[in-house]
Amino acid sequence: MNSIEDIKKELLAANCKTQEEFEAFRVKYISRKSIFAELFSRMMNVPDSEKKAYGQNINELKNLAHDKFKALAANLDSESEVSKAPYDLTLPSSKGKIGSQHPITIVRNRIIEIFEKIGFNISHGPEIEDDWHNFTALNFPPNHPAREMQDTFFIKKDPDIALRTHTSSVQIRVMENTKPPIRTLCPGRVFRNEAISARAHCIFHQVEGFYVNKNVSFVDLKQTLFHFAKEMFGKDTKVRYRPSYFPFTEPSAEIDISCNICKGDGCNICKYTGWLEIAGSGMIDPNVFENCKIDPDKYTGFAFGMGIERIAMLKWEINDLRLFTENDIRFLDQFKSF
Ligand SMILES: [Zn+2]
Repeated sequence: MNSIEDIKKELLAANCKTQEEFEAFRVKYISRKSIFAELFSRMMNVPDSEKKAYGQNINELKNLAHDKFKALAANLDSESEVSKAPYDLTLPSSKGKIGSQHPITIVRNRIIEIFEKIGFNISHGPEIEDDWHNFTALNFPPNHPAREMQDTFFIKKDPDIALRTHTSSVQIRVMENTKPPIRTLCPGRVFRNEAISARAHCIFHQVEGFYVNKNVSFVDLKQTLFHFAKEMFGKDTKVRYRPSYFPFTEPSAEIDISCNICKGDGCNICKYTGWLEIAGSGMIDPNVFENCKIDPDKYTGFAFGMGIERIAMLKWEINDLRLFTENDIRFLDQFKSF
């Protein structure tokens, strides 16, 4: 065992460059098993007359060890990897950027939410379709323009395979495989051979919905779409139906809502008519039922289809369809709160 003097010298000279050296110092001078435990245990061998001075010396040495320990700790902190980092690690971290849902996703989810609450489920179908599901079963006449190469992306001719031009093809797939009552919504991507502009795109999204059961009437169609319009665009929204034509519905109607921007007074969005077209609809043509082996004398149904981009554009007054696919952060960032 070294003398108190030696220990004092050693203590004063101690220096720690690493965490390990610092820990060794702690064990030797500070811990319960430190050198001082040994020094105090030697007290009984010290003559009574020297006991007081001996005890004082050890206590002084112990205080010295504690001071040194604090100094070494401070020194090690400032020398540590943390402070050597080229930036201040004690600053609060910069938060990672949180993205937002795409406006098309937001609107699609909202449409689904509205219809799910009134009993519609969700169906999906392939984006590459055969002629039967995309055209023939939907009562498209052989000379319909959508069957032409310049309007539709055909992958193969004879037998015809094409990128689906609408989500109505899912209607056929569901009706072929499900017995009524059917109440389903089919959201998805559709493709048309169109030049890309502010008002047209070759890829866009539709949502098809249809309800087949006994005694389904046009009243059900009207009330269902009226409910949707109010939920989507606000409770004061008015709806009007204009006679129209689709191969797969009879009768057919375009659905307009009162302009939610000018409240019907007329603005450039509604082209000063006070009305905005949001969807096509109609009662499912009996020929379509027959194509899907559903008895048209027993069952009736309505169907509707709308463009998700169109709804999003009306909802947020977006004036260029291309914005949805350009991935411009300045555009996408604006939908964080939805
Ligand atoms: Zn308007």
